Amino acid sequence: MPVITKQFVLDMKGSNEVINITKKISTALSKLKIDNGIITIFVKHTTASVMIFEDESGLHSDTNMIWKTLVPEDEKWKHNILNSGEDNAHSHLRAQIQGQSLSVPFLDRKLTLGTWQQIVIIDFDTTPRKRDIIVQIVGE
Ligand code: ZN
Repeated sequence: MPVITKQFVLDMKGSNEVINITKKISTALSKLKIDNGIITIFVKHTTASVMIFEDESGLHSDTNMIWKTLVPEDEKWKHNILNSGEDNAHSHLRAQIQGQSLSVPFLDRKLTLGTWQQIVIIDFDTTPRKRDIIVQIVGE
């Protein structure tokens, strides 16, 4: 069974920025010679995540509120206290809760996403960064 691995980089701003990569993934998938299988999207960082999301402005705002409520920036986090210069404990913790990996089945070279489901990358860090995203496709 063939395994194809691709990698791309996103320039992200941090501060809970969300970038929709659904079109990028769909386009890449349509060009492969694998019809059916599973695609895994993996974020190679500890302060960024991937998730399924309904990409709508109200939910952007609501989701931001949840992250800020669950993991406030101004707590006395040990990561910031024990590591001088670190200010991003909340970024790591939000990313841990949200996760770094997502798998989606595909059929006839199309993602089996529901009507409102989109794939997004979130950057929780405090400064802009380049984000490495690994995409691995297994199928036939
Ligand atoms: Zn850190």
